[in-house]
Amino acid sequence: MADFPLPPGSTIGILGGGQLGRMLAMAAARMGFDVAILEPEADCPAGRVAARLIVGAYDDPAALKQLAEAADVITFEFENVPAAAVAELTRLGARVAPDARALAIAQDRVEEKAFLNQIGVPTVAFAPVDGEGDLAVALQKLGSPLLLKTRRGGYDGKGQAWVHRAVDGARAVAELGGGALIAEAPADFRRELAVIAARGRDGEIAVFPVVESHHESGILRRASAPAKATDRARAEVERLAATLLSGLDYVGVLGLELFERDDGTLLANEFAPRVHNTGHWTLDGCETDQFEQHIRAVAGWPLGPTDATSHVETINLLGEDVASWLKMAREPDSRLWLYGKRETRPGRKMGHVNRLSSLDRGG
Ligand code: AMP
Repeated sequence: MADFPLPPGSTIGILGGGQLGRMLAMAAARMGFDVAILEPEADCPAGRVAARLIVGAYDDPAALKQLAEAADVITFEFENVPAAAVAELTRLGARVAPDARALAIAQDRVEEKAFLNQIGVPTVAFAPVDGEGDLAVALQKLGSPLLLKTRRGGYDGKGQAWVHRAVDGARAVAELGGGALIAEAPADFRRELAVIAARGRDGEIAVFPVVESHHESGILRRASAPAKATDRARAEVERLAATLLSGLDYVGVLGLELFERDDGTLLANEFAPRVHNTGHWTLDGCETDQFEQHIRAVAGWPLGPTDATSHVETINLLGEDVASWLKMAREPDSRLWLYGKRETRPGRKMGHVNRLSSLDRGG
């Protein structure tokens, strides 16, 4: 196994074969690396652009062994990788980045918020809820309404329910499957921001310009970057991202989602220990894009510069949106990224388009 920095010709292993894995594989190929993907689906977006595809479940010991043998470093494109898979890879002598701790914290909303608060990154008030009794206590402690979310496994706004009164509690708990939940106070935000940031193996930190994100039904619809923000707000976002990266002793790129309140204060919502949907603008609007930056970090290369070169409006192409690909391909200032998914389903992320404008005009 080569030492860091990994020389070109080394192999990067990626758990997950979706669009994030695909764009990571494309960036890695440009840097002279081979990529080995481990993914349960044989016909997956990343598998079709990678040097090697290992088809298997994430907890299949034989598949994990093949990946560990093939790869000089292993990373992942989604955060719900079973902890046991990372433990097994580590046991096999593989080097995994980001590490198991970052993954474990991000997988549990209660752990995540407790950790953020502990390192000085503010969040909404919250309480763990393991049944109706806990919910009554949470309503007393935090007031109403409350947003109930599943502690683990929720994404794109799935697994969430508002509770206005104690009598609604039973229905909400049942709606979310009755498992371990978190109750959160409302964020009362005026807008949602996000930031992509990276930390290298030597502790170097690079933060990308701030993004303004717009969700519909919990799914990211649109992101605009660099976001209009005061120097003070920008500095505060950078400080929070750097605090998180150092607190986790992190290696790689992460995405941090934030709420900006009316008085300008910032609260962290959650972080993703991977490249992130709100960072797709960097593909066409930054000196280095988030995918290359992640590969640089995990391979032990120096981080690239993160200055914006364009203002970018990213539109996520969900479901049938993608049918307009030819129209978008004709727009001179649009850059179209399609994920190669065979089947269009309502709400499915099929691609995105980056609409470019000059920095002074857009920002
Ligand atoms: P999440 O699943 O935590 O990423 O939340 C998805 C979306 O739900 C966020 O982007 C917000 O728009 C909204 N949301 C999440 N948490 C809260 C909260 N505590 N208060 C108000 N809105 C929230």
